[in-house]
Parts: sequence; C-alpha cells; structure tokens
Amino acid sequence: MFDDGRSKQILFAAHCILNQNSISDGTAVFPGACREVMDVLTASRVGVVQMPCPELMCLGLDRGNPRGGSFPVVEENTRIRACLGRDAVKLRIQQMVQDLVYQILEYKKYGFQPMGIIGVNRSPSCGVDTTSENNMEIKGKGVFMEALTAALKNNQIAIRVMGIKFSEIPEAVRAVNSLLNNP
Ligand code: SF4
Repeated sequence: MFDDGRSKQILFAAHCILNQNSISDGTAVFPGACREVMDVLTASRVGVVQMPCPELMCLGLDRGNPRGGSFPVVEENTRIRACLGRDAVKLRIQQMVQDLVYQILEYKKYGFQPMGIIGVNRSPSCGVDTTSENNMEIKGKGVFMEALTAALKNNQIAIRVMGIKFSEIPEAVRAVNSLLNNP
C-alpha cells in the first residue's frame, strides 16, 4: 500500500514559514515564503504540511489590535499571549492540535516517517525554544507549541520539534538541514 512515487516522509512547518502574510502586523520579513528554508525543504524528499496559523485562526489577521504594528514586538506578543489564554481560544487551539495529531497518527499507521515539526521562536504561539511574555523574549514554548507537544506526549508520538527565527536565516537553514539528516 502506498508503494508509489511518494517518499513517505512528512514534515510539519509553521504556517508563516510558507506564508508570511499570516504573521502579526509589523513582523513579516519576506514577501511570501521564507525562501531559504523552503529551498532546503523542497530540495529534499519530504512532504511539507503547513500547520494552521493559531493566531490568525483564533484572533484574526490583526490579532484584535489594529495598532499592533506600532508597538515593540515583544510587548505586542505579550498582549497576544494573554489573548490566547481565553477559554474559547484554548478550545480552538485544542481542536487544531487534535487535527494535527490525527494527521500524524494516520501517517504513522501506514509506515510514513514524521521527520519533525518546525516552529518559530519568540512567537507567543509557535515558539519552541523561546517565546514572549512580560514584554520580553524568554525561554519556553508558545501556547500552541505547549499544547501540541503535550498532545504528542499523550499519544506517545516521538517527533523532533525545533524552532527557527526569520532574523537568523543561516542558523535556520543549518537547523533544518540537521533535522532532515537526523529526524
Ligand atoms: S508563528 Fe505561528 S502564530 Fe505566528 S504567524 Fe507564524 S504560524 Fe501564525
């Protein structure tokens, strides 16, 4: 089954790695995709799953603050993080997490290899190594990544989760190459 042209290797990427239009006001670095990272991924054998953008889906494109782009990033990120703590938002995030877990389990059921998950550091949602809180970039995970990694653990899914920064592209490319070589 599925013995056709596909690689059976799947990688999950934060939405804004493929589409910077989703990112909070004032923080987009690229016109569309983060080309350097996508060049590495498209040259590889992996199929790339674009994860949903939790902030867009829960708070809207302006994150509920039409003036968000005029504030320092970590201040606005701290406000966004507080909004992500609302009950209705937490529920929506859990739904997105469960959809992703379902996809991973389906692929695993048929012998596909989940190669990893790539988040975006400093994000109040998708940060893996760092996030934003108290108007600072701090160590820790964003709200979405916290929920996703907990769900992965609950479902006994072992998969590498790493974060990149759009302001540190050489490091991001190195990290993605490393992930592809050592999933
Ligand atoms: S880091 Fe996450 S929440 Fe922020 S724009 Fe990217 S996908 Fe959306």
